[in-house]
Amino acid sequence: MGNIETIDSVCTYCGVGCDIAADVDVKENKIKKIYAHPDGVVSQGKLCIKGKYGFDFVDAEDRLRTPRIRKSFLEKNPTIKDVIAKSLVDLDETWYECDLEAATTACALKLKEIQAQYGRKSVASIGGARTSCESSYLFQKFTRHTLNSPHVDNCARVCHSPSLKGMRVTIGEGAATNPYNDIYNTEFMIVIGSNTTEAHPIIANRILDVAREHDNLAVFDVREIKLHRFAKYKAIMPHEANLLILNMLAYVIIDEELYDESFIADRTKGFLAFKEKILSDPYANPDYFNELEGYEYLAKMVRKVAREYALKKSMIFWGLGITEHLDGSYAVMAITHLALMTGNIGKVGAGLMPLRGQNNVQGTCDMGMLPYYDPDYQEPKEVGLMTPQLVDEMLEDRLKAVLNIGEDLTHIHPNLNKVDKAFEHLELLFVQELFMTDVANRADIVVGVKSAYEKTGVYVNAMRRLHLSQPLVKSDLPDDWEVLQMLDNKMGGDANYASSKDVWDEVREVAYRRFSGADYHRLEKHRKRGLQWPVHTEDTPILHQLDFRTEDGYGYFVYHQYKLRGMVKEIQNKSLKGYHLTTGRTLAHYNNAAQTKRSPKLNDRYEEDILLVYEGDADDFVSEKVILKSEWGQTNPLRVKITDKVQPKTLFATFHHAESKINNLFGDKSDELILTAAFKSVQVEVINC
Ligand code: SF4
Repeated sequence: MGNIETIDSVCTYCGVGCDIAADVDVKENKIKKIYAHPDGVVSQGKLCIKGKYGFDFVDAEDRLRTPRIRKSFLEKNPTIKDVIAKSLVDLDETWYECDLEAATTACALKLKEIQAQYGRKSVASIGGARTSCESSYLFQKFTRHTLNSPHVDNCARVCHSPSLKGMRVTIGEGAATNPYNDIYNTEFMIVIGSNTTEAHPIIANRILDVAREHDNLAVFDVREIKLHRFAKYKAIMPHEANLLILNMLAYVIIDEELYDESFIADRTKGFLAFKEKILSDPYANPDYFNELEGYEYLAKMVRKVAREYALKKSMIFWGLGITEHLDGSYAVMAITHLALMTGNIGKVGAGLMPLRGQNNVQGTCDMGMLPYYDPDYQEPKEVGLMTPQLVDEMLEDRLKAVLNIGEDLTHIHPNLNKVDKAFEHLELLFVQELFMTDVANRADIVVGVKSAYEKTGVYVNAMRRLHLSQPLVKSDLPDDWEVLQMLDNKMGGDANYASSKDVWDEVREVAYRRFSGADYHRLEKHRKRGLQWPVHTEDTPILHQLDFRTEDGYGYFVYHQYKLRGMVKEIQNKSLKGYHLTTGRTLAHYNNAAQTKRSPKLNDRYEEDILLVYEGDADDFVSEKVILKSEWGQTNPLRVKITDKVQPKTLFATFHHAESKINNLFGDKSDELILTAAFKSVQVEVINC
């Protein structure tokens, strides 16, 4: 035991951001055990199975330790090959191995050539939400300033960009308003479009604690999820009905005059016009559910939920079940309307909780890894393109190089057939990764980098809490920002940071409106409690207490009518046809499962993506595995599980395993404002294998 040291850090997986403690054999340089930090404010003594068992990836044999360059890339670029020839070592038919100097030199030479031939905007940077704030900051800075290209984006494009958009329009800030522990202070909770026990389990623990004691939970989802067991209001709704239901909740609050007049008068604008529109909208009256066979019970339930929400101190939680739709941003605005009209915001126990996905997706957006925001959500000089637009640019031969940090573009993004074709047009794909993931296997140059458990850096969780991670084990690999600094220097930039602290000190100056008071020393001192941004002399556990973070400080009502479509339209017209698929996560895995599938305790629980099928529809599924086909593409065979937990003519599948090709089913249909793919509903046909 003499070699064992206990080191505190933060979990590398989901946006909950649990505080962990690790027992590390410092002699062997090996993590032996990870558990909840005994004083963890976030984890509160418990980790989910990913946090607890998902660390085998750190010293997995197939960890990417040496940079690789594709042989065919060098055949096409003989001048570059000449420059780095001395460092090339034959690996296999496809790859050479080389040192970092050669890999970054090759990348820089090709970037220069591409920009000279196709222009400065022929280069884009995507990814970064699993890396630290320091690396995300440098990624966008290098792209915008040194490469002079406006095209930066991150994985929020396929998850919570609509939350950022919707919340900024109405309340000025795209982030959770309260700390997680405020769940213990609330009187009523609505969870909509979030399978919280699977995707954000340690937050689900709090919700369940409170729901068991106070019977004050309403859960809206398209299928039966674990949270429903403990809900007072168990609502199963048709696909694509989020905005419908959210507008109905607002309608009831207005119709029954349950709103907070003084809050509306003092803190908001646009209520009267909103009121007029909603009261004359036929889809906003919950009686509309009487026209939807099988869902009539929702008419009464929506009224009851609206009353409890309005009259109590309430919180709303949502996930990708809200955002990954054609009307995701509008649905988020509709959520904020509920808080604005009832005053359920800016107070202890009342607020809005978008449940962000990746461990640093909040921080990555805060750092300006978005085409329309500089760091700190300041306006950029030049707005770049969003990822789906960048894919179109590739097909048009205007975008020729992509730099990618930890974002599996060829697995977790939509319309993969189109992405495949688009990638063929690239002349350079440069990837920083932990493993040879799907996207790394398509790259021209791949560089292995430190994982979160091997480096120092700031991560921002889903409640705006900053956590300064510290390495659990030593690694000779470079941090993402170090690779970027080498590239920057080779491209004529002057990046000259000696440590991640140096980078963060610059972040605090550039993004001073949120981070000015969050220096490393203070983050270390407050490691247990954590600090929630904005951090100046004090931090800010609850946002919007005195005013909203819009330009004039008011909250805004911006009405959008529900558009009849999809499954709701089919049910209304009594013409439900085909199957509607929705996708989501399982507790055992994290996104593309590159890290989690290397832990047998996790992978043995969930080795393949499973398709859930309603028991009454079992006759259509005669084989053990089926292929799903949509107008956009088809999956590989998926194992079928018959259940009573999904609705008739609806299906559910996870998307973690690249070989399933689930995302082939999704096309360019996306959020109207922000292009987040409509992963939560697609019509499919079933082919028995
Ligand atoms: Fe890690 Fe999220 Fe699980 Fe917490 S809930 S242990 S942050 S994966």
